[in-house]
Amino acid sequence: YFISFEGGDGAGKSTQSRLLGEWLEQVTGRRVVWTREPGGTELGLVLRQAVLHGDHVDPRTEALLYATDRAHHVASLVRPALERGDVVITDRYLDSSIAYQAGGRTLPVEEIEQLSTWATEGLLPHATVLLDIDPLVGTRRLDAAPDRLERAGDEFHRRTRQAYLERAAQDPARWVVVDASGTVDAIHREIRSAVAERLGL
Ligand code: C5P
Repeated sequence: YFISFEGGDGAGKSTQSRLLGEWLEQVTGRRVVWTREPGGTELGLVLRQAVLHGDHVDPRTEALLYATDRAHHVASLVRPALERGDVVITDRYLDSSIAYQAGGRTLPVEEIEQLSTWATEGLLPHATVLLDIDPLVGTRRLDAAPDRLERAGDEFHRRTRQAYLERAAQDPARWVVVDASGTVDAIHREIRSAVAERLGL
């Protein structure tokens, strides 16, 4: 099984992906590999540093850097793990590019989709969990120093949220949309039952 978590900053992706993984480990008896984008591999960490902490990176360059990270991530880590029979849970995947590079940076969505499909050779998750939250609430939850994008304007974050919700609405068989403003435990239970249903567990 391949599962991705998506959502704005501070929505709780890392906490919820860990909890879901622990549960899937128990119920499936399979090994769970947790990973993330950008930066799930050694090369990915270099790209993450370049794209998030570099000076001005224009939108096309940014889109290509994310696509590079994703291509390498899929080829070197995600596909081999799935072929071994492991469960792979990734914190962000190609839908982040739809939300941020298309929604946020306003590049054409079809082009970002093509680029992502090319980079991944069309590998899509069995289930994608969107932790939906008001960008202002999400940003307030973060205590770490904001990176370049977390400092970007409110309008940008509203567009990314909108792009996520529109994309999720187009493919309800893959997407699980969860209101991320509840308690950790309630959100986990909601995700668990929706994912179990999608995976036929
Ligand atoms: O979730 P994480 O902290 O790893 O994301 C790092 C930053 O990269 C976030 O601010 C996120 O908004 C941004 N990002 C992006 N486009 C992507 C993936 C992440 O702008 N495709």
